[in-house]
Amino acid sequence: MEHIDRITRMVGLSAEDRRLIRAHHQPLADALAEHRGPLEDWMRETGLWPFGESPFIEGCLASLIAGEYGESFSTVQYHQALFWRRHDLRNSHALTVLSRLRQLFVEHAERWEALALGRALCRVIDSAQAVHAVVHHLGYQMERLEDEANTDIRRMQQGCGVLLSQSQQSAAQAYIDHQEWKIAAYSLALGREELPDNYARSPRACRLGRWLYQEGGIEEIPVAFRPGFEAAHERLHGLMAQAIEESRDGQPQRIAEYLVDVEGASEEITEVLGEIIECAMHELVTQDPLTGLNNRRTFENDLQRRIAFSRRRGFPFGLFILDIDHFKTINDRHGHAIGDEVLEGLAHRLGQLIRAEDRLYRWGGEEFAVLAFIDAHRHARDVGERLRRGIAQKPIDTRTGELPITVSVGGAVFDPAVTEGGLEIFGAADRNLYRAKAAGRDRTIVEIP
Ligand code: GH3
Ligand code: MG
Ligand code: MG
Repeated sequence: MEHIDRITRMVGLSAEDRRLIRAHHQPLADALAEHRGPLEDWMRETGLWPFGESPFIEGCLASLIAGEYGESFSTVQYHQALFWRRHDLRNSHALTVLSRLRQLFVEHAERWEALALGRALCRVIDSAQAVHAVVHHLGYQMERLEDEANTDIRRMQQGCGVLLSQSQQSAAQAYIDHQEWKIAAYSLALGREELPDNYARSPRACRLGRWLYQEGGIEEIPVAFRPGFEAAHERLHGLMAQAIEESRDGQPQRIAEYLVDVEGASEEITEVLGEIIECAMHELVTQDPLTGLNNRRTFENDLQRRIAFSRRRGFPFGLFILDIDHFKTINDRHGHAIGDEVLEGLAHRLGQLIRAEDRLYRWGGEEFAVLAFIDAHRHARDVGERLRRGIAQKPIDTRTGELPITVSVGGAVFDPAVTEGGLEIFGAADRNLYRAKAAGRDRTIVEIP
């Protein structure tokens, strides 16, 4: 959006123009007084202005022929534009009304044989039209932003309820607040005075500030982004404070001048917050919170994809399900919290045992799954055994000391050259796990097609 003063300058009103207009002030004022009534009648007859009150605010017409086109001119025109906007006069209609005034001025200037005056007045109308266009553009921009922000806010709110941590909820709320402020800044520039009720003057007192500095949220912002993020946040508060002050002073046109800055600062904040929240939501649906491993939902998706890939490329792969032996005893003997530590330790150990291209999941309570490409069928047994031995070999470190554990492993191979179906591979691996348990636990059984 262009700075209003700059637009006025661009129109090219010169000192000579101003002088000419001032010199003709009285006849111009008489002409306006004479034509104001017919112009208002025309607006009513055409349905542009179905209201009883005058379509022109105090000082609007006078400002056109004042011979001064600085700040007070743009203020009056800005308020005129707001007034018309509030009365639903469309931008094109507002421009038409101003064009009729231009026509009136030109006719008079011709009659007085003062063409230079006519040109000067045309430039005044151009300036006024530019101000009206700015206000219209703001209104359009705000509607667009409001739509986008509302979609965003809805999405966040839906995610908010299921987000795990309090901290992530605060981040989501901070995101929503700052989106609302951006809209509020536009709304103040459009002459509305209501303040967002979640507005906090200090960047430490708003929800984002509390999340950042009291709940440790700052740690979640990547170090490289922190200085820019914090500066943008402070800048946004500064700009909002200024916007509020200027709207209270009845100077919304000044807000319009720095809305671009408001938007820039707000975008910087919401982009980083949005990314953090997106990641949290993604983790929420794909990961197991205790071990940080992929969860069962991800496993099911991956298994389908792996089968399709395997069919396309002709690569066999193995599925292994691991179940801790007598895990219940660990819980019973040491408590649930230590049981959790064992699960975390086991997840970590498995992560070290698999190869980079293998995928590891927490399938259920004390059950884990591994998808691994295999070179040959007999290799599948080796993979399962490697996992089992890697766990039995060394106890898991916990707060109460080292706890030895064993797992039973059931495996199955999907070979596109031999395997007919698809998901049966899971049933086969599960059956083998059951057989390994029944055969005495701490062993691997892999079914090979
Ligand atoms: P088996 O050798 O037959 O597998 O015996 P088990 O005791 O391991 O098997 P069972 O199915 O009887 O018990 C599984 C236990 O795992 C019961 C459940 O409380 C525990 N468990 C499941 N999820 C968690 C968890 O997230 N944390 C902890 N600490 N325990 C869990
Ligand atoms: Mg089990
Ligand atoms: Mg078990």
